[in-house]
Amino acid sequence: MPTVGFFTSPACRKHDMGNEHPECPERLDAIQDQLLSSGMEFVLRFFDAPQATRAQLERVHTREYIDSIYSRAPSEGIEVLDEDTRMCPDTLAAALHAAGAAVDAVDKVIAGEVNSAFCSVRPPGHHAERDKAMGFCLFNNIAIAAAHAREQRGLARVAVLDFDVHHGNGTEDFVAGREGYLLCSSFQSPLYPFTGTEELPDNIVNTPLEAGAGGDALRSLVENEWLPALEKFQPQMLFISAGFDGHVEDHMAQLRFNEDDYRWVTEKLREFADAHCEGRIVSALEGGYALSALGRSVVAHLKGLIGN
Ligand SMILES: [Zn+2]
Repeated sequence: MPTVGFFTSPACRKHDMGNEHPECPERLDAIQDQLLSSGMEFVLRFFDAPQATRAQLERVHTREYIDSIYSRAPSEGIEVLDEDTRMCPDTLAAALHAAGAAVDAVDKVIAGEVNSAFCSVRPPGHHAERDKAMGFCLFNNIAIAAAHAREQRGLARVAVLDFDVHHGNGTEDFVAGREGYLLCSSFQSPLYPFTGTEELPDNIVNTPLEAGAGGDALRSLVENEWLPALEKFQPQMLFISAGFDGHVEDHMAQLRFNEDDYRWVTEKLREFADAHCEGRIVSALEGGYALSALGRSVVAHLKGLIGN
């Protein structure tokens, strides 16, 4: 049975954007609760994530942008970055640990300490562009991890798969036209951030879904568009932006996925990784705001990584 690493940090729970914000600390509690009740804690290896370094962040983000995040970090109260995205005094540390978890997961997977990894972290990352925070995201955790694998660990080709209900505009901003990277992304359209439908370089495979689409639509696009693109690109490692806000119980949007769909897509990606990438997968949490559905979906995703 493959060993799956579970990377998180207590710092990620302390990031708090204020009352009623859907991207709340309780999301990580909901995941932890389901791990306990499902018995998954006995089959995972747990890692306390370090902070990302400046050099690791700079592979994706501009120095000016990183400086601005450091300088705007408040010592008290709330700093508003955009209408959805705020910093409290603990946010910078949380964001550094979130990106650091993904980087550490890359190192441990490539070293063979674990076969694959899931990073249970917040803030999420896939909306963060090279020079812009938005949509609850500060640093693009999965892009930073993919860039670490390629630029630091010497992999020539890496692929990012994103099944969050929102388009990962930040990851696309980094990957589009960049040699050695592929991005396949499903998302509800039209929906925030209202991107992902323009003409793009062919290393971006955008597969939008209409409101109301269910798991059959997700499974079909994975089989007919993602897997053929992966076969053609022949990546050496897979990265997953694992957002669970397309769940039927999640009212952030109107897709109708359930946890069986998340397990199915994860199994398909693991089978591809086993055949072509020495099983190497690093996944990081993006969205997912219906707490019970989020916890169950993460467990289903982990079961997909582990396999039978
Ligand atoms: Zn989302």
